[in-house]
Amino acid sequence: MKPKFETLAIKSTENNFSEVKSVSIPIYLSSTYKRNEDGTYNNDFVYSRNDNPNRQIIEKSIAKLENATYGFAFSSGMAAVSTILQSLKTGDHVLLPDDIYFTIKNLFKEVFTSWGLSYNQIDMSNLETIKTAIKPNTALIWVETPSNPQLKLSDIKAISEIAHKNNALCVVDNTWLTPVFQTPLNLGADIVIHSTTKYFGGHSDVLGGTVVLNDEKIASKIKSIQQLNGAVPAPFDCWLIGRGIQTLHLRVTKQSENAHKLAVFLENHPKIEQVNYPGLKSHPQHNLAVKQQNKGFGAMLSILIKGTEKEVFKISTKLKYFTSATSLGGVESLVEHRKSVEGPDSSTPSNLIRISVGIEHIDDLIADWEQALN
Ligand code: PLP
Repeated sequence: MKPKFETLAIKSTENNFSEVKSVSIPIYLSSTYKRNEDGTYNNDFVYSRNDNPNRQIIEKSIAKLENATYGFAFSSGMAAVSTILQSLKTGDHVLLPDDIYFTIKNLFKEVFTSWGLSYNQIDMSNLETIKTAIKPNTALIWVETPSNPQLKLSDIKAISEIAHKNNALCVVDNTWLTPVFQTPLNLGADIVIHSTTKYFGGHSDVLGGTVVLNDEKIASKIKSIQQLNGAVPAPFDCWLIGRGIQTLHLRVTKQSENAHKLAVFLENHPKIEQVNYPGLKSHPQHNLAVKQQNKGFGAMLSILIKGTEKEVFKISTKLKYFTSATSLGGVESLVEHRKSVEGPDSSTPSNLIRISVGIEHIDDLIADWEQALN
């Protein structure tokens, strides 16, 4: 019997293109995968929450770029952070930097303390402070280097050694530098996380997060939380991040060069009180940056402008080529007055502006700051 229209509409749009040799990766939107006669599934794809081709591509790619064995992708950077915290047990303690992406601190404060985790925020640039703050139940030392938004650095190798001596793990949020400029697993860290929303995506049009690591036992825990919790990225989002990965090196190299030149210009401007950029010799941990960061200092900086909060805010909106918006890591330059987004318990100076430098021509970027400051 010839199938009726309704049936034909379904069968005629089936995927018969598996043999097509497309150079660019197709987007596999399918939520489910066909089972074979013997009960097996091709390439082990069963159901898209568990695994799908677009996700697998970026998980393997980011793991390779970070020199890791295992990679897991999530629907946002915060979903990746949550997954790590969910792998801990009630009663565990975590050391957090005093300068950190404020939402991570809020996640501890507002969600995980009621699940029985405790935390302390400390100066992660001081090894003696870390040694003193570590407790018998400390399970994780959380490192964000450079830190958001004050660009304090932490010594990944030394902190990993302290963590291991105390049976704890060292987790590094490598969002700001990407594996182009820093590979924490090579320095002894146990787990690396990223908000792939930033440099991996690179175009401010996708949210994502990733966890990469080498330990098989921890990896299987992360995998099961990923699949059971379901905070996974959509295939289209994975496809966008995969496309971003192809130009990551080119973009961040250019962005870092621009950031360095802008930092030098701003440091010499009379209206600027301080520039926080690890590439400058004036940065108190410049030597650590040279030692632990590869081939570049990144494209993020923050500055303290002489003036009141109101004046500083006004300067940031006078810029033509730096959009006043949150987030970072896209091809376009952004500025943000951090204190006003971080909430009442923010310790960020009120005259601090965070700058995410893009791929525009550096002459235009410098001229823009010159006109805004004058
Ligand atoms: N880590 C850092 C350093 C960040 O800057 C951000 C976001 O700004 C995150 C994690 C969280 O990522 P997402 O916004 O993708 O959830």
